[in-house]
Amino acid sequence: MSFRPPSTPDRFAPRFSEVATFMRAPLAATLEEADIGIFGIPYDGALTHRAGARQGPREVRNQSSLMRAVHHVTRMAPFELAEVRDMGDVPFTGIFDIETAHNDIAAFANKLVSKDVIPFGIGGDHSVSLPLLRAVAQDGPIALIHVDAHTDTQDEFQGSKFHHGAPFRRAVEENLIDPKATIQIGIRGTQNNTEGWDYSAETGMRVIFCEELHAKGAEAIATETRALVGDRPVYLTFDIDCLDPVYAPGTGTPEIGGMTTHQAQVLLRGLNALDYVGADLVEVSPPLDNGTGTSLAGAALAFEILCLLAQKVGQK
Ligand code: MN
Ligand code: MN
Repeated sequence: MSFRPPSTPDRFAPRFSEVATFMRAPLAATLEEADIGIFGIPYDGALTHRAGARQGPREVRNQSSLMRAVHHVTRMAPFELAEVRDMGDVPFTGIFDIETAHNDIAAFANKLVSKDVIPFGIGGDHSVSLPLLRAVAQDGPIALIHVDAHTDTQDEFQGSKFHHGAPFRRAVEENLIDPKATIQIGIRGTQNNTEGWDYSAETGMRVIFCEELHAKGAEAIATETRALVGDRPVYLTFDIDCLDPVYAPGTGTPEIGGMTTHQAQVLLRGLNALDYVGADLVEVSPPLDNGTGTSLAGAALAFEILCLLAQKVGQK
């Protein structure tokens, strides 16, 4: 009796068949076989408001079955440029304690990094970026491209320094990112105070409020970002709430006046040819969605990000 395990890629099988993996990539059998490892981080214990991002990886996997093999603008074929695998989900030992959960995430990402597998995490709330940065920035501070409605540079809230509005303040304090090589794109929405915006500005981050993006256009912002990052190792973190809630209502802290899906695509396509060491896409919350559109946007933008990572692998 023969048996075809799901690790056998078959791009011409019906897309509704098989266990849903990210973009129908094979499930990894070993760490060694992958150049890029996409994995789920089903954790939302650090949210400050509306919950549900722990359900993100499942629905993004499901919607990502709609992604095919070739990019329609760049003609890039990420699965030919790189060995792409679904690494499964981060196994948790303590989801009721943020720091324990973060240690679980860092331990998982460390395994990939130790085998030169580029980690691409699908969250999950935005707090998960901190342990991912701990894994990829072990040789000193790296550059950061942060696409979000919020700077996520707040300080302590409700007795914790590790909630989803704080990861990039902690990342500066832990010397994981260079704030002067950090750019935050799409910022908007009310805050209780200006603490986060002030911290970003005072540490030298380039903060692009969404009004500036709308005025200058996504392509110009991408050009500025590439110039700022240069040839430094860089991490890309993409919060789905950068999109306008018209396109992404399924997220914990939606803010109007945001990007269209097309602006986000143009921005990401312009962030090519950089030295990516990892990426994440976070804050997709399927229980808050109107149908499955937010997860589909997440899956399609994850494909754009995958192309950026695969391009780097292909250049090696
Ligand atoms: Mn965020
Ligand atoms: Mn946000």
